[in-house]
Amino acid sequence: MITIALSKGRIFEETVPLLAAAGITPLEDPESSRKLILPTNRADVRLIIVRASDVPTYVQYGAADLGVAGKDVLNEHGGTGLYQPLDLKIACCRMMVAVRNDFDYDSAVRQGARLRVATKYVQTAREHFAAKGVHVDLIKLYGSMELAPLVGLSDAIVDLVSSGNTLKANNLKAVEEVGQISSRLVVNQAALKLKREAIQPMLDAFAQAVHK
Ligand code: ATP
Ligand code: MG
Repeated sequence: MITIALSKGRIFEETVPLLAAAGITPLEDPESSRKLILPTNRADVRLIIVRASDVPTYVQYGAADLGVAGKDVLNEHGGTGLYQPLDLKIACCRMMVAVRNDFDYDSAVRQGARLRVATKYVQTAREHFAAKGVHVDLIKLYGSMELAPLVGLSDAIVDLVSSGNTLKANNLKAVEEVGQISSRLVVNQAALKLKREAIQPMLDAFAQAVHK
């Protein structure tokens, strides 16, 4: 049995065509089904539906053989025990630093001010500001980062941005790119060795679908 870990929403939707290229069709839709283990047209392949940030953990421990996870999530997880053979070029967005429209980020940085930064991506933010030599106090949040600068919790946020509409609607502006984000295929390293006959053709089909 091959188990593939996916999260609901954009990752599931954008992975379906890649699965199709490998001859795999889910038999249920996670948006309407309450099942967490979904069968596919192939008796030897099943999907498990987990929180986006839990995908690396399921794969790391071998509870899933493969999975699809955002680079944001993988950077926070650290990638231990994971083979990352392929950028799937799906769920693309950017990790950005954003502040209130009336906050002068460049001059705060120039003056060497200590910035308060609220984010769900603490590891990523720490690495980003350390590389720039900017001193920060990081405040861990689990959602709605955009609120933090508006109510004085922080000077800045580090968050994913795609259209920028949420920032705009909340009088925030993006001031710096932390990195480009897309989702990657992750594979349990032991599973790849033990089940290579089943897994390698899937990797090849995904790679071909991505690069076509
Ligand atoms: P949860 O919603 O359960 O808190 P999440 O926000 O990480 O978790 P999703 O919204 O499904 O889950 O996002 C999954 C992945 O898609 C993220 O890890 C990121 O890589 C990518 N992503 C997030 N927001 C966007 C966006 N606006 N546009 C494109 N890709 C995005
Ligand atoms: Mg989300």
